Amino acid sequence: MGQQIPVVQIETPKKNKKNSTSIVTRSYTGLFRNVRLLFTGFLLAIFFFIPWINWNDRQSVLWDFPNGRFYIFNTTFWPQDFILLSALLIICAFGLFFLTVLAGRVWCGYSCPQSVWTWIFLRIEHLTQGERNQRIKLQNAPWSVNKAIRVFAKHFLWLLVGLISAVTFVGYFTPIRELSVNLMQFQATALSVFWVFFFTLGTYLAAGFLREKVCTHMCPYSRFQSVMFDDSTLLVSYDAKRGEPRGTRKKGQETETMGSCIDCTLCVQVCPTGIDIRDGLQLGCINCGACVDVCNEVMDKMNYPRDLISYTSERALAGGKTHFLRPRLVGYAITLLVMFIGLGWGLSERAPMRMDVIKDRTMFRENLDGYYENTYMIKVINKTQEPRSYQISLKDAPHFQLNKEHILSLQPGEIGHLPVTVTQTQALTESFVPVVFAVHDIAKPEYVLTTKNNFTAPVGQ
Ligand code: SF4
Ligand code: SF4
Repeated sequence: MGQQIPVVQIETPKKNKKNSTSIVTRSYTGLFRNVRLLFTGFLLAIFFFIPWINWNDRQSVLWDFPNGRFYIFNTTFWPQDFILLSALLIICAFGLFFLTVLAGRVWCGYSCPQSVWTWIFLRIEHLTQGERNQRIKLQNAPWSVNKAIRVFAKHFLWLLVGLISAVTFVGYFTPIRELSVNLMQFQATALSVFWVFFFTLGTYLAAGFLREKVCTHMCPYSRFQSVMFDDSTLLVSYDAKRGEPRGTRKKGQETETMGSCIDCTLCVQVCPTGIDIRDGLQLGCINCGACVDVCNEVMDKMNYPRDLISYTSERALAGGKTHFLRPRLVGYAITLLVMFIGLGWGLSERAPMRMDVIKDRTMFRENLDGYYENTYMIKVINKTQEPRSYQISLKDAPHFQLNKEHILSLQPGEIGHLPVTVTQTQALTESFVPVVFAVHDIAKPEYVLTTKNNFTAPVGQ
């Protein structure tokens, strides 16, 4: 196991800040920016469009709290299946651990909602108020019509994005089509309006104002992620041996006493968390690669080799080779694989129906033939996405019979209740005799469930 990299404290450079509360980033282009654009675009498309897709006459993904069901396309999770959902969450946590050991905080840089929405809000800022220098100038300028329009446009668009995001998020918990229509007609429930308002405001504040403070001061992951790094973890790092001593110069004005860093500070100006990666690995670095892209562009212009700042490991910076097949990484990968197989097995073995048998409060009654009868309430849940018919019967019960054939037809997700009477056909030697009820899907006889209960009768009858 590699040696841990010490985490240094964040020192926010003054050059990237207009004042102590706002970081003004400049736009840039490059490979990692394009990867980020594609990846976040893909994630946002999934987030915004999935609730609008219908599946089997209902919303494709819906967490229906009042009815205790969670629909994901063809699969319905019931409260009894929540162990599988918990397993899914544990798999996600292990996936994050694996990713962190492999490549640090790339989750934060490329897919964390806080970073993604901050990035959208930054684009809006750029759209309404221009490039970094223009934004700083505007912020420092006295109020004017131009400034008021631009500031208003920015906040209006921020709130609009916040509102659309909030409606979409709430739409995962209440049917989104109904919710949207009800909101537009001012007929939404107070609870829906509260949550939409809450998430609109939350998005506006978190992505518009808190931004990097969430990543550096509020997110618990940023606090413990550094203990997961080892000397082969791929982190955005500055090659100080090559870059120092830094110094400004013109292109072609080479000097042997200087390193490759021309001290242009562009890497600081693009950083969404306002840090200077040249000060070493820092708590606030979300591994977004912005400084890599912009520094590579500078190196190209200067005709210097690229990767003065790059995704690299401490081992590689020290002249060694990054190890990918290391015990912790392999251990996480194997654990993840085993958990995926276990989850797949658990999902495939899930019973497509459920049966509960509740005995009537009346212990027994005697029929006209002198035999004793017990009454039960059978509850069957159709957990599939299609209508199904189920037959209720008794299993291995030579002493008993059902009073008639019982067939229960249920719609997808429907819960059926059926009262049944069991009659004794032979004398019993005990007061409480186990009786096994079976339910089988008529279309798929291999789907059979059994549940045990007791038959009660006076001894010796
Ligand atoms: S972008 Fe590169 S050259 Fe410019 S200051 Fe940063 S590390 Fe130095
Ligand atoms: S230091 Fe570089 S990789 Fe880290 S957050 Fe800033 S721009 Fe992104």
